[in-house]
Amino acid sequence: MAIKKACTTKNNTLENSKKNANFKIIKKKIVIKNARPDGESICIPYIRIYGEGPKVAIIGTQHGDEFFSIAIIDEFLKLNSSTKADLTVFPLANPSAFNISNRRSPIDNQDMNRKWPGKKNSTITSRMCYHIFKTIKDCDYILDLHNGNKNIRDAPQIRVHKSNRKQTENLCKYLGIDFFINHSDTKHTLVEELHAIGKIAICIEIGEGRRMDNFYLAKGTDIIKKFIDYATNPSVAKEKTKHIDEEKIKKIHASKSGLFIPSEKALGKKTKNIGTLVNISDFSEKKITLKKSHKLMSLCVGGVVSKGELLARYVE
Ligand SMILES: [Zn+2]
Repeated sequence: MAIKKACTTKNNTLENSKKNANFKIIKKKIVIKNARPDGESICIPYIRIYGEGPKVAIIGTQHGDEFFSIAIIDEFLKLNSSTKADLTVFPLANPSAFNISNRRSPIDNQDMNRKWPGKKNSTITSRMCYHIFKTIKDCDYILDLHNGNKNIRDAPQIRVHKSNRKQTENLCKYLGIDFFINHSDTKHTLVEELHAIGKIAICIEIGEGRRMDNFYLAKGTDIIKKFIDYATNPSVAKEKTKHIDEEKIKKIHASKSGLFIPSEKALGKKTKNIGTLVNISDFSEKKITLKKSHKLMSLCVGGVVSKGELLARYVE
């Protein structure tokens, strides 16, 4: 799947899918004039799929180095699922950060997910937030998609905020995601600001930001479908959700530099062997293991790693 630079050509990254009666993709864009130091505009592409049902928004790639979310949203749109929901989709919320594959904007060095709900006359990142927020604030359900950092693949995990934990609990269980993490750094995140105006909003981390991964591509599109199903027909999950406090997440770092070979099947499960660290000078091997009760939530994609580099995150 080719992901082109955003807004540098007339067509954006999304192909116009075959249309059916229930799923008409209308391409739109927000144009922010005089956005760059050279006076150029920034355009933020988005999609409207009009429906009679609840208003749902999907947001991807607030962080410019997390473009796997664009692929997930693109795959979802290609499915042409019939839905009654009224959808507003921003596959690429932060085009200028995406163009340099960076988390932050190259113009003002700000992190978009700490600038919501944005201001009309402020730094460019804040202005982008203002216009996107204005476009989605009438939506009832909002899904904010993120991905793992460089070389770290995340099993689907939900970051919830204390302010709206009760309301989102059922939804999280409905999505079938086991890692339900109480997020502590929430000031001016999109989800927090949406909670403040009474919306149901969650942030999901899935896969690795810079890599296309068929398994998590399918999982991600399934999560979007389920999220829309839930918005259309909210149901009560029977099982109780187990919360994980962010401080309880444990990390494993490489004890020395070498070649890390991850165990493909380990992610998201209770597992003992998560991979092998090979010493390149003498080819000695060290197995990286967890205890039986530990559950692996993020794993290094493998390759050459430096001493101290993050290999895995897990919870007990
Ligand atoms: Zn992110």
